[in-house]
Amino acid sequence: MNKLIKREIPNNFSLPRRIIRLGSLAYNLWWVWNPEGLNLFRSINKRVWDEVGHNPVAFLKKVERSQLNAVANDVDYLEMYDRVIKQFDTYMADGPTWFTAKYPNLVDSEIAYFSFEFGLHESLPVYAGGLGVLSGDHLKEASDLGLPLSGIGFIYNQGYFTQRITEDGWQETGTHYLSFEDSPIIPLYGEDGQPLTVSIELPGRSVFARVWLVQVGRISLYLLDTNLPSNSDADRQLTARLYSNDLEIRISQEILLGMGGVRALRKLGIDPQVWHMNEGHSAFLALERILEMVREGTSYAESAARVRRSNVFTTHTPVPAGNDQFPLWLIDKYFSGVWAELGMTRDEFVDLGRQATPWGESFCMPVLALHLSDHANAVSELHGQVSRRMWNFLWPERRTDEVPIKHITNGVHTGTWLARRMRVLYGTYLGEDWMDRLDDPALWSMVQNIPDSELWAVRRHLKRKLVLYVDNRARNAWQSGTIHPAQALADGVFLEPYSLTIGFARRFATYKRANLILRDYERLIHLITNPDMPVQIIFAGKAHPADEPGKLLIQQVYRAVKDSRSGGRLVFLEDYDMNMARYLVQGVDVWMNTPRRPNEASGTSGMKAALNGVLNLSVMDGWWREGFNGLNGWAIGEDADAVDPNQQDESDSQSLYDHLENEIVPLYYSNRTTDDIPTAWLTRVKESLRTLSPQFSTRRMVTEYLQDMYLPCLTSKEIVRQE
Ligand SMILES: *Cc1c(COP(=O)(O)O)cnc(C)c1O
Repeated sequence: MNKLIKREIPNNFSLPRRIIRLGSLAYNLWWVWNPEGLNLFRSINKRVWDEVGHNPVAFLKKVERSQLNAVANDVDYLEMYDRVIKQFDTYMADGPTWFTAKYPNLVDSEIAYFSFEFGLHESLPVYAGGLGVLSGDHLKEASDLGLPLSGIGFIYNQGYFTQRITEDGWQETGTHYLSFEDSPIIPLYGEDGQPLTVSIELPGRSVFARVWLVQVGRISLYLLDTNLPSNSDADRQLTARLYSNDLEIRISQEILLGMGGVRALRKLGIDPQVWHMNEGHSAFLALERILEMVREGTSYAESAARVRRSNVFTTHTPVPAGNDQFPLWLIDKYFSGVWAELGMTRDEFVDLGRQATPWGESFCMPVLALHLSDHANAVSELHGQVSRRMWNFLWPERRTDEVPIKHITNGVHTGTWLARRMRVLYGTYLGEDWMDRLDDPALWSMVQNIPDSELWAVRRHLKRKLVLYVDNRARNAWQSGTIHPAQALADGVFLEPYSLTIGFARRFATYKRANLILRDYERLIHLITNPDMPVQIIFAGKAHPADEPGKLLIQQVYRAVKDSRSGGRLVFLEDYDMNMARYLVQGVDVWMNTPRRPNEASGTSGMKAALNGVLNLSVMDGWWREGFNGLNGWAIGEDADAVDPNQQDESDSQSLYDHLENEIVPLYYSNRTTDDIPTAWLTRVKESLRTLSPQFSTRRMVTEYLQDMYLPCLTSKEIVRQE
């Protein structure tokens, strides 16, 4: 970063001198994946820690000075404090990393990673779902490996919406306002001592955006924010929310992210040789970079060729209608100045993003990204095939298998998603250095050494924690005096800590088919209420506020949940977020995923579950098609595309019930030892841990991005450094 840019960690706290470093720890999300770091805050006062939503900045401001004084004089606390601060300082020091050891000649490189959303922690709610969590996990892994990477995105001061479900099962949305002073957001100042801003030109005006910094371990994440007095009221709202339905807001946001993002990096003195667009939302960055070169006298063709060589594009959307696109009148309105400057005709410009749709032509962001990137990938093997077919029209002279889109299957960041007690178990049985070898299959074969009794004790502990969490939420909701008794039951007061528990949590998009298990309702009721082998299912997830079919799906599930015949064994938890996701993926026994193949590009929550000893029951789509080996979980349906969706639903639901009735439920409840340990179940759990943990970690994923996508850009001789 440019030496003249000042970053000032706000001096927010009055901390006893002996524990003063809690302040800098609060302003770096490193603690999110280092449980001892988290414990430094939480152990001061667990109640306040929960009240502030696990946000250390708000926590240190709120907690009583007397409690801070108490821990500053507590020998045990100080011992932990000194150890953690030392770990943190060692991690952050300019010492050797995996990357610097392996690529010493590339230490001065820069990689920029653009994403519309980043899911790093529940206390920084600037994410909506899977795409954001993947971006967040990517940054954390890049930090652990020591990659020279910076993130670019938005700080949405209203985040995504909060969800409430009415008594009738209808989703209502609320707004949560993010307090910047209470968040781990670091202001940046330019050479002139003023807040660092960039501007972009939108029709008839300039819009300014402030640049904030969030520190994610070693990685800097720069977030843009238009809520500034120099902008009109409407423009101040531009970065208020994720995924607006208003196309003018959307295109303005994407211009800001792409073009403004490049300008922000320039001001920061960062000169990336790799530009990674995570989804098409940021693809306008390519235009800004071409404009930079054209303004210096390079021809359009030459500029575009150079930009292409250093652009990386990751697509996540296997459904044509799901791809981000704009009507051409909006392109006219926002870009007529740009094509003139590039020396292009309107037609040539529109060609960059042109896509035929049933309602006419549109300008499609993934098309723009594909036209202007030499390196493109999908996020699972099957998604790679689907994407090559879907985008074949851009390379009409090529066979489908020659379309230049590879795949890098998603992964999850182990430290973020792993339960603390499981981590202790791995430390004991896989060796002290197990976190250095996360993607090594030989390491994970050592899970065979974990005694069944210990593994089972941890699994039971995690399920009890989940049930307690659910109970507490239900109690609080009931105490609020705003819910009907039936809603308290739907909130899960009847959950049992010893029953086989299935989790289903994700966005409520119709293709995810949350209602697949309701298809034969009598069969489901019979299955879950068997007094000898009870089963309980926990649902959670939000529907996009404009997605009426998605909201109807929630209502359908909620009505089943409230039905007295289900005996309180079906539960719907409101307001799914990363905190709830952790309880669920760590606490249930089975993770169920029932997308309509091949619409799930990858999916990641099943990976989080697997890492914690949860078994997957999933459609042969996305990651599970690669993960399933016949012994490490269960596959719903065939490894083949269906012709008719209705028939697909029918046969998938039959397959789902069959697995549950004939295999999963009996396996869980039978073959118990005299100590009541289900040995056959645990054999499967160990097979799942052994095979899935190394393969579906971001350790494997980010090293593949480096190998296949980043290194070709970094080692290209044609890179011209901009001064
Ligand atoms: C992991 C995660 C997701 C993504 O889930 P999928 O399995 O990809 O559907 C969405 N939301 C939250 C809060 C998550 O933690």
